[in-house]
Amino acid sequence: MANKRKIRNRLFLAGLACVLVVGGVFAFRKLTQKPTDPRSQVEIKLSEQGYPEEVIRTILPLSSDKINYLLAQDYDVQRTNLILDPYATLANLDRYMAYTQAHPEDSVDTVVLMVNINRDYPFYTHTSEVSDPDNLLVIVNKYYGLPKTYEPDDLVDIEAAYNGRTDGMKVTVRKAAADAFYAMNDALKQQTGMVVKTTTAFRDYAFQNNLYTFYTAAYGQEKADLESARPGFSEHQTGLAMDINANGDIIDDFMYSQQYQWVKDHAHEFGFIIRYQESLTEITGYKKEEWHLRYVGIEHATAIFNQSISLEEYVMRLNSGVSQ
Ligand SMILES: [Zn+2]
Repeated sequence: MANKRKIRNRLFLAGLACVLVVGGVFAFRKLTQKPTDPRSQVEIKLSEQGYPEEVIRTILPLSSDKINYLLAQDYDVQRTNLILDPYATLANLDRYMAYTQAHPEDSVDTVVLMVNINRDYPFYTHTSEVSDPDNLLVIVNKYYGLPKTYEPDDLVDIEAAYNGRTDGMKVTVRKAAADAFYAMNDALKQQTGMVVKTTTAFRDYAFQNNLYTFYTAAYGQEKADLESARPGFSEHQTGLAMDINANGDIIDDFMYSQQYQWVKDHAHEFGFIIRYQESLTEITGYKKEEWHLRYVGIEHATAIFNQSISLEEYVMRLNSGVSQ
């Protein structure tokens, strides 16, 4: 019996010793351990710079160069909001700030868009020559021009049945646009019994030069610029634009036609957009032209139509690499 008690006592002491050792280690670790901050170094630094918690949450998914830029300075609401715009670039930041000053009523989205497409510069200033004139999404406007000698190498004549000219002149356009135009007319004819014709599509530099000179002489430069492109800056030189009319009417009356009612809802299904619209004048720099179609292909035309945006904005978004 005495032995059994001895063994029990020893076991008890050994157990007690274990408990004390383990407990001591835990207690020691507890005392020496610093409390861990669940926030990352970036979050802590931003917080120190005065960025509110809810703003920090929106900053963290940004690219590292944007985060580093913000880390380098104290919180500034306006600058931070601009950088948070998905299409904003650090390179344009000063221009966004200047544009905001000049247009305090504009939203951040608008400011970023306008600067990204150069609209903070007056038309025909800061112009450059496009490097990919054959691209179906090429932007030719009052900032981007085509080489004087550019002429697409896949121009085709529009069939007589769809040539709306009364002077017997040919109308030429790029093959893809011509095919889309015929397909659109087939559908239009099937659904309404009517067709549209084209009076002008591809125009070379020399033609545009004469046209612009004529407009300037007749109306003065300011009005001429609203209605006609300067040579080299006309979308017609891409071979992807077509002016269309109904029943041989003049193009200005196209908007009153039944064909227009159909075309405005269906042109995108064939790859065309109505390029110049009233709501887009600030961006495009042109008055509305219901008759001026631009071929971009079905996929892009449909996306542009669904979003009700300009070609400029669409391409800007596409080039930004931000998924839409
Ligand atoms: Zn036109």
